Amino acid sequence: MSHWPLPKNVDPINAEFWQTLQDGVLRFQRCTDCGTLRHLPRYQCAECGSTAYEWAPVTGRGTLYSWTVTHQVFHPAFDVPFVAAVIELDEGVRFVSQLIDADPAELELDAPVRVAFKRITDDFQTPVFRLEKT
Ligand SMILES: [Zn+2]
Repeated sequence: MSHWPLPKNVDPINAEFWQTLQDGVLRFQRCTDCGTLRHLPRYQCAECGSTAYEWAPVTGRGTLYSWTVTHQVFHPAFDVPFVAAVIELDEGVRFVSQLIDADPAELELDAPVRVAFKRITDDFQTPVFRLEKT
């Protein structure tokens, strides 16, 4: 049985990003000079140019910014249909992920969501999102 593909860490900073998530806390780079969060991971702050950063935990809460329902099988591990979503986290970062356990017919813009973690292998998990029950 095929599992979700693992990230291809072509750059050490991407590997850092994925490693910081393995304890089940969503983190993004935060510039330690101006406080701006960075995503996708990068070596320089887009706001102030600083190369200094730390991995800062975020709430994991956000809203559904955009989505598409995928019916085409692009990888055998992905059951279709699935919801590929852009999540806008409360901290302002937009993050592309999968929205799980959701009925596509019931999705609404700005619906509240919360991060969950899907285990891919014994030593790797990836962030996904679920609708927040209100
Ligand atoms: Zn900065």
